[in-house]
Amino acid sequence: MAYDPNNIFARILRGELPKFAVYEDDLTLAFLDIMPATEGHTLVIPKEQAVTIFDVSPEGAAATIRTTQKVAAAVKKAFASPGLMLAQLNGAEAGQSVPHLHFHILPRFQGLDMKLHGRTVADAKVLAPVAEKIRAAL
Ligand code: 5GP
Repeated sequence: MAYDPNNIFARILRGELPKFAVYEDDLTLAFLDIMPATEGHTLVIPKEQAVTIFDVSPEGAAATIRTTQKVAAAVKKAFASPGLMLAQLNGAEAGQSVPHLHFHILPRFQGLDMKLHGRTVADAKVLAPVAEKIRAAL
C-alpha cells in the first residue's frame, strides 16, 4: 500500500495537528492516543514514512522498538500497572485504522477489561496531566 502523506500521524509529525507528546528523538515520536482504551494509552511511531512493520527500514524498526521499550517502562511506572500490553496492527484486515506504523502501549490491571480501541475522544484537560505523568517517569 502506498504511503498517504496526509494521514493523521503524518500531519501530527508535521505539527499540523495537536498532540500530547511524551517523548521525541531524531527517528521517533511518542504521544497519547486521543481515544484512550486505558489511562496512559500511548502511541509510538517512526518519523520515517511506513504504513506497516513490513515497510519500515531495519534502522527505523530498531529505533521504534527502542522508544517503545523506553516509553512503556515510563507508562508502567507512572500508572503503577502490574501488566503492560503492546499492540501493533498491520493492515485494515488486522484492525489498523491509521496507515502509519505505530505501537500501542497500554497499562493493564487485573480484572479491568478493555478493548484495544477507545471510543470517545478524551478531553485535553484529562490528557494533559497523563502526558505530564509519563514524561516525569522517563
Ligand atoms: P490502529 O487502529 O491504527 O491500530 O490505531 C490507531 C489509533 O490512533 C487509535 O487507537 C485511535 O484512537 C488513534 N487516533 C486516531 N486519530 C488520532 C488523532 O488525531 N490523534 C491521536 N493522538 N490519536 C489518534
